[in-house]
Amino acid sequence: MKIGILALQGAFIEHLHTLRSLGVEAVEVRTTTELTGLDGLIIPGGESTAILKLARHYHMIKPLQEMAKAGIPIMGTCAGMVLLANKVTESDLQTLCLMDIEVRRNASGRQVDSFETDLAIPDIGGEPFHAVFIRAPYIKHLGAGVETLARLDDGTVVAVRKGNLLALAFHPELGHDTRLHEYFLKMVRASKKEIAR
Ligand code: GLN
Repeated sequence: MKIGILALQGAFIEHLHTLRSLGVEAVEVRTTTELTGLDGLIIPGGESTAILKLARHYHMIKPLQEMAKAGIPIMGTCAGMVLLANKVTESDLQTLCLMDIEVRRNASGRQVDSFETDLAIPDIGGEPFHAVFIRAPYIKHLGAGVETLARLDDGTVVAVRKGNLLALAFHPELGHDTRLHEYFLKMVRASKKEIAR
């Protein structure tokens, strides 16, 4: 199993370390060639405008969209979630438009408003997940078939899944809890079986 981490900008190193700590082959991806042969991809947090600008510059938009359509699992965290979204509230940001969600950028406030909280995520089992939010996008609307995995206490949706796509408003790579990465790896294993069939 080989997982790529889009390494154009942002917090990609931490995902790399987390995956490697789980014994998984993980590589940094900066070119379309490096996208080939991957079983899964992580789009990290960072600055969605910068990541998109660079992805466009390196002609990666279409290959990324094709990857998702081919059923390869993609996990977008924070800015990565913005890239996956179909629509960004009050913005004409051209995202990858892969998931039927509308997100509001920086909805959790400025850098100084970053916060940590414990989220109940029944799908990963066990105790609540300690999640770090840094200028996080919030999910404002969900399309049909998009499943909610976690909410803040006020009801704000912060983790969703649809098929091969997983979107998290926070940074699961910061901290020692690897359960969300393991959940993503399960999605990858399942899709490999599906594709082999
Ligand atoms: N505010 C950033 C954006 O919309 C996301 C912040 C993050 O990834 N921590 O691009």
